Amino acid sequence: MNDLNIFVIYFTTVTVGAIIVLIFITYFFMRKHIFAPPSGEIVTSKAVTVLKCPLCDYRLRRSFKEGDHVGAVATETCPIHGTNLIVEAVYSESEEKKD
Ligand SMILES: [Zn+2]
Repeated sequence: MNDLNIFVIYFTTVTVGAIIVLIFITYFFMRKHIFAPPSGEIVTSKAVTVLKCPLCDYRLRRSFKEGDHVGAVATETCPIHGTNLIVEAVYSESEEKKD
């Protein structure tokens, strides 16, 4: 009878311990793979160029093209004057997705 009691206590301890370990493993696995979003995909940035007419306040905002820099003459023209627009600003816009 004494041997059986020791076996029951040992078996219960091992079983409870195994369940606790399994719960911890599951918790950390879920937290890492399900709850935390992949950091590389949440932020997307795009470069934006602001063009301005040198004669009036007409401004055009479009996506960045290679060679754009402040003061450069763009191929786009002012709808009022027909003059080529000047690059006024170049900046990057970041869009963050938050829950
Ligand atoms: Zn103009």
